[in-house]
Amino acid sequence: MTVFRKWYCNCSGVEKELVPVTMIEDETDEPTCPKCGATPSSDPRHTVRYRDQESWDD
Ligand SMILES: [Zn+2]
Repeated sequence: MTVFRKWYCNCSGVEKELVPVTMIEDETDEPTCPKCGATPSSDPRHTVRYRDQESWDD
């Protein structure tokens, strides 16, 4: 069993899934909201949420 953590931002009033972005310069790989730029560690408006999804495929 594998657990996937999916991140969402509801800055627009609708939960939008964050997309992982790799920033080469500081080697972080954080999901970022394409709309407001919030990330799990930089979330000034507290719009970022996550949901763990279990996969039983393996
Ligand atoms: Zn957002």
